[in-house]
Amino acid sequence: MSVADNLNRLKNQIGNEATLVAVSKTKPNEMIMEAYEAGHRHFGENKAQEMQAKAEQLPKDIQWHFIGHLQRNKVKYIIPHVHLIHSVDSLRLLKEINKRAANEERVVDVLLQVYIAKEESKFGLDEEELKEILDGEDVKASQNIKIVGLMGMATNTENQETVKREFTYLKDLFNQLKDQYKFSTLSMGMSNDYEIALECGSNMLRVGSLIFGERN
Ligand SMILES: *Cc1c(COP(=O)(O)O)cnc(C)c1O
Repeated sequence: MSVADNLNRLKNQIGNEATLVAVSKTKPNEMIMEAYEAGHRHFGENKAQEMQAKAEQLPKDIQWHFIGHLQRNKVKYIIPHVHLIHSVDSLRLLKEINKRAANEERVVDVLLQVYIAKEESKFGLDEEELKEILDGEDVKASQNIKIVGLMGMATNTENQETVKREFTYLKDLFNQLKDQYKFSTLSMGMSNDYEIALECGSNMLRVGSLIFGERN
């Protein structure tokens, strides 16, 4: 199956319920262009300099999503290019994004990443930290960022009930906050759990290997 075939199959399945972010990390520009020529515009990367290089080389109407753990000293590389940062997990990172966005005279949309998995290795905020950020004075003073929703990664397990429980928790949290904070976007679901994520109310999927093949 070609990249275009994979994309079409997925898009038919998803319909209008969710935006599909094609996760192109580690994949070459040629493969991204195959998807681009099939009409796709949303791509996801998890390394700042890799996103920067690809954004500089590829068409300017691509909407780049930053989905990985972001270090503060790397923020500057992505700010001129990024459409949405999915992985904000601290106030310090948020403030750095705001500062760099102000330098570029732009407003950057971000999602707050919530910790929903039972794995040590996954980043994210708990509910209390999330509310502290949302209600804090720092965010109110940050004119160059806009928090537009939440992102989460479920436990990497065969157990569908676990995944479903974690996504449902995040969806409930999203529903609870969305009117007050004007949230639009709930980013959850990857290649191995996007169907469950859709069932649980995701409206943005981050899918890599099902589109571009396995990574090394
Ligand atoms: C790599 C990655 C994905 C995509 O993973 P696949 O299993 O290839 O679909 C989604 N989200 C994040 C945060 C990632 O790092």
